[in-house]
Amino acid sequence: MPMTVLSVLPASLAESQGLDLHMHSTASDGSLPPAELVALCHRRGLTHMALTDHDTVAGVEAAAVAAEALGIRLLPATELSTQWRGVNIHVVGLLQDGVHGALATGLESQALAREARAEEIASRLEKVGLTDALARAREQAGEWRPLGRPDFARALVAAGLVPDIATAFRKHLGNGKRGDVKSHWPYLAEVVEWIVGSGGVAVLAHPLRYGMTRRKRGLLLDAFRDAGGEAAELVSGFQNADMTRDLARQLDERGLYGSLGSDFHSPGGPLAPGTMGSVPRSAVAPVWTHPRLASFAAA
Ligand code: AMP
Ligand code: MN
Ligand code: MN
Ligand code: MN
Repeated sequence: MPMTVLSVLPASLAESQGLDLHMHSTASDGSLPPAELVALCHRRGLTHMALTDHDTVAGVEAAAVAAEALGIRLLPATELSTQWRGVNIHVVGLLQDGVHGALATGLESQALAREARAEEIASRLEKVGLTDALARAREQAGEWRPLGRPDFARALVAAGLVPDIATAFRKHLGNGKRGDVKSHWPYLAEVVEWIVGSGGVAVLAHPLRYGMTRRKRGLLLDAFRDAGGEAAELVSGFQNADMTRDLARQLDERGLYGSLGSDFHSPGGPLAPGTMGSVPRSAVAPVWTHPRLASFAAA
């Protein structure tokens, strides 16, 4: 008789509820400490979550303690910064078995890359009038966490150079702007190898958020799959339903698993843990049915 794996998670993406596989804490650019994020997820009725801080797993231990206490399933994870054809691409590693081998050294080099990148971003922003840019970004971040573009965005707002965060990204930090520094990040394929080598599942994050044409997105999905990537986020936060259906076709054509996440960063906005656009019926298999996530999905 075949062994059946008991799972409290549904067999289809469209029936999913109480699950969020993409969220941030103060270990990167989120505003809640890991334990508080877990508590919020629990209050909102989530049963399964992944903490996906940018280029680090520093928050995972504290989150795991809180998750254990509250009886919520936590998947160790991270969202890694990469580059592909001059675009900054994010790859989520779902790491049921934690961090091993090349991923361990990879995370160390990501931290160094983030520091070097912050210096480069700072010197570029000084040219548009943000004096002492690095110190000002550090002030926005608080003490210890690695600097990200949101810290520079807040520094630009605090200095009165732009009216709000959205304008900071649109004018100075977004895709292709002077503060969008990508050269420090490793190539997509290398990062996928780290994740797979650690026994994890590599998930292409928010495929609709790179400003690509359908054709270019197809090339990205091909490159990702060729490198060993096995899943992509079918829905990330709020997303146009027609675009989602089209993305489902692109995943299905390539045999990629589908993941779901809010990309939650902070309370107070329209997004909360577990919030996302509607999930269409499709033939795309949920990422939690991947054999390397069996113990996370098991009841
Ligand atoms: P970094 O990891 O330093 O490259 O910064 C990227 C982060 O900036 C993303 O993960 C988002 O949290 C944030 N971000 C990107 N674009 C925007 C935007 N237009 N408005 C606000 N935050 C953004
Ligand atoms: Mn972020
Ligand atoms: Mn991202
Ligand atoms: Mn994210």
